Amino acid sequence: MQFAAPQSWPCAVCDRPSTPRVHPGCQERIADNLDALPRLYRQLADVLIPGRRGGEGRSGTRTAPLPCSLDALDMRSRGGIEGVLAGWAADLCEREGWTLTCYGSVETAVDGYADLLRRNLIRLCDEHPAIREIADELRQTVGQARRLLDGERPPRRVYVICPCSQRLGFTLDTLGLRCPNCQQQHGHSDLLDLPLAERSAA
Ligand SMILES: [Zn+2]
Ligand SMILES: [Zn+2]
Repeated sequence: MQFAAPQSWPCAVCDRPSTPRVHPGCQERIADNLDALPRLYRQLADVLIPGRRGGEGRSGTRTAPLPCSLDALDMRSRGGIEGVLAGWAADLCEREGWTLTCYGSVETAVDGYADLLRRNLIRLCDEHPAIREIADELRQTVGQARRLLDGERPPRRVYVICPCSQRLGFTLDTLGLRCPNCQQQHGHSDLLDLPLAERSAA
């Protein structure tokens, strides 16, 4: 008697074949990002202190007003990191009929909502229709915070042409992308195989 191979379908986040709805690597990455955000939130406070940016080894440099302090301020305000986490926490609570906890400070909100999402990660991965958006948004938020902490410029956007001739912009952080015109899903390596679009001034 033969047993059927375990059924697999595209991971709901990255399209790689997976038996669970979201493959273990993607689940782990979401968990890591949820763990990282409260830590990054605290570290971003350092970016706001003149002379502290860049951390050890680069002290003593004269600091002009930092354009990235404003971005750090944005990420630390209500609606920044907190907004991303609160949005998905509110969505989860609404779907489950739970009451969303309100927190007095942005920092406790970041901690509380990250913890709520983290504790319900399996549920989100198994059921949530927008798990790909959740994963993408968390990854982008973590990436943005890390770049501010490293003082790096945002990653360069690359433009390619979809077989349907739609221009698609992505960065090296992009895991995959659905063409808004023909709806075809392109994985990261598929995107790199597409012909490059002409460089444009915009
Ligand atoms: Zn995956
Ligand atoms: Zn297309």
